Amino acid sequence: TVQEARTLLSSKNVRVNCLDENGMTPLMHAAYKGKLDMCKLLLRHGADVNCHQHEHGYTALMFAALSGNKDITWAMLEAGAETDVVNSVGRTAAQMAAFVGQHDCVTIINNFFPRERLDYYTKPQGLDKDPKLPLKLAGPLHKIITTTNLHPVKIVMLVNENPLLAEEAALNKCYKVMDLICEKCMKQRDMNEILAMKMHYISCIFQKCITFLKDGENKLDALIKSLLKGRASDGFPVYQEKIIRESIRKFPYCEATLLQQLVRSIAPVEIGSDPTAFSVLTQAITGQVGFVDVEFCTTCGEKGASKRCSVCKMVIYCDQTCQKTHWFAHKKICKNLKDVYEKQKLEAAKEKSQEETDGKSDVNSSCSNAEQPGAEVGVSQEESSAKDPVEEEKEPAGSEAGLAGVQDAPAAPQVSEE
Ligand SMILES: [Zn+2]
Ligand SMILES: [Zn+2]
Repeated sequence: TVQEARTLLSSKNVRVNCLDENGMTPLMHAAYKGKLDMCKLLLRHGADVNCHQHEHGYTALMFAALSGNKDITWAMLEAGAETDVVNSVGRTAAQMAAFVGQHDCVTIINNFFPRERLDYYTKPQGLDKDPKLPLKLAGPLHKIITTTNLHPVKIVMLVNENPLLAEEAALNKCYKVMDLICEKCMKQRDMNEILAMKMHYISCIFQKCITFLKDGENKLDALIKSLLKGRASDGFPVYQEKIIRESIRKFPYCEATLLQQLVRSIAPVEIGSDPTAFSVLTQAITGQVGFVDVEFCTTCGEKGASKRCSVCKMVIYCDQTCQKTHWFAHKKICKNLKDVYEKQKLEAAKEKSQEETDGKSDVNSSCSNAEQPGAEVGVSQEESSAKDPVEEEKEPAGSEAGLAGVQDAPAAPQVSEE
């Protein structure tokens, strides 16, 4: 137990890094068994997080990643675990975790970027008078660097919500520092292409922000709009796709395996088809395979979005802010999507009541049974100022009129159109 271990560790005669017959330390055992408190206790008592005496060269980080425990993986990284160490068959902790399907741990390892590495740039180096990065920018920049959501809209939102970052001079400094980190990642002995690509990509988005900021007062909202604007035929955000493709293409180390792999996956895909550059990039950098089972916000790509557009029920958002931001683009296709949704629903209902010959009323009643429960859309029950598709749920009066009636549902949320 943790209590017992604590008592034992307070004695001077205990070596916290003792090894068992396989070369495993107590920390490795605790990590593998998913005992977070025990890991923390051992680390506090000086357990060596990079001990490499295991018979197959496993480290505590590898055991943590294999166990799939995200908190322990994180704790090992924060304690200074090296991510590039390989086991006896040449695999890193991230590769081992990917091999056994612990993708959350892969994401955590690949995106770990200790604050100290950024703080290096907040002190003047060599002949520099001023640091490359003002200290006040290190926090906000670190937040963006460590994000696992690489959606360009999300990155611009993070910039936009911080007044320190959302100005030309600050972004100029930030993107140059990111470029330096990218270079370092590629030139260090243990090359880290994933981190290099991520830094480069975020740097490119920052440079886009600068271009838009130059156009006048706060123009980041305009950038977000450009990123979300869909083409007339199907609402596909062409500009967003092009920006991401262009960023990848501009990666300055053309010999990088990761770059070649990305280009191979993206180049043959016609714009508007799957996979999108965003999904290919996300998969390469975070290790996230596909987008199954989890709902992603249509606006910002954030995981776990659950608020559905109540008119078409075909898109989901984090919250009302994301819905409002997207409305100018979505309203053009919402009605079409709604028709698709209705059709799907009708098809499903028809199949159900296939045996009933006069099944018309049955079709309709099963339709209304299939309505989404109110809880799912309850973003803004309290707001009465305008009609909002997120909450506006017109219950059909008569089942038949109901289908047509929704068509007239006011489609404009309280999004301003100016
Ligand atoms: Zn969102
Ligand atoms: Zn809709």
